[in-house]
Amino acid sequence: MELSVFQKGFNFSQDGPGNRLVYHLQGCNLRCPWCSNPEGLACRGGTRVSVSELKEEALRSVPMFFEHGGVTLTGGEVTLQLEGVKALLTELKQAGIHTAIETNGLSPRLKELLPLVDYLMIDCKHYDPERHRSVTGLANDILFENIRLAVTQNKAPAVRIPLIGGFNASAEDAEQFARLFLRLGLRESGTVELLPYHEYGRDKYKALGMTYTMTEQAKVSPETVAEMTRILQSHGLRVIRS
Ligand code: SF4
Repeated sequence: MELSVFQKGFNFSQDGPGNRLVYHLQGCNLRCPWCSNPEGLACRGGTRVSVSELKEEALRSVPMFFEHGGVTLTGGEVTLQLEGVKALLTELKQAGIHTAIETNGLSPRLKELLPLVDYLMIDCKHYDPERHRSVTGLANDILFENIRLAVTQNKAPAVRIPLIGGFNASAEDAEQFARLFLRLGLRESGTVELLPYHEYGRDKYKALGMTYTMTEQAKVSPETVAEMTRILQSHGLRVIRS
C-alpha cells in the first residue's frame, strides 16, 4: 500500500498538539481560490511512498514528538487516499503514536477514519452549502453530518474556518456559523479555530503557471477577527485564534 505525498516536515503546534511530523497528501476535490498548496491539488503527482516506509520514518521520529506530538496527515485532502491513510493510521496507532488529520470533511467515508484519529481538524469554510459550492466547487452538507458524528463520538473536533473577506468574515457570518455549530453540538465537544486569510501561496501560483485570483478584499483585520471571536464565544463556543 502506498500514499502520494507532496510535502513533509516538522512543525510545532500548528497542525495538532506538540511537535509533529506532517505529511501533505497529494490531491484535493475542492478548488478554494485561496489555497496555499496549489501544487498539491491535482490527483496525479507527488512522491509515492509505501505505508511501511512512512511508519518506519514515524518510528525514527518518536524522540522528536515532544509535548504530546505525533504524526499529522493533511493535504490536499486526506480522504482521497482513504485506504492508504487507513492503513498508515492503523500502523501508527498500533505503535502508540499520536495521530491527527486535517480534512475538508466532505467524504462520506470519513467515519472510517475516526476511530484511528486522536485529533481531528475539520475545515468549515461556509455555513451555506450553496455559497460553499459556488466558491470551492462542491457543496458541504456532508461536512455538517461529519462534524456531528465526530461530536457524538467524543472526538472534540477542531473546526477550522479560513476567514476570507467578502466570503465568510463578517459579524453576521459569525452569527450564522455560531447557529450552525450549536445545532451540531460543538459547544459540548470541540473548538472553533479562526485562520485569517494569508497570501503564502501567491508566488507558487505564478511558478505553476496558474492564476491567483485573490484580491486585497480577502484580507481580514484584527478587529474583525476579535469581533467574530467575541460573537462565537458569546454563544458558549471555545475559540482558538492562530
Ligand atoms: S480544501 Fe484545502 S487543500 Fe483543498 S483546495 Fe481547499 S484549501 Fe486547498
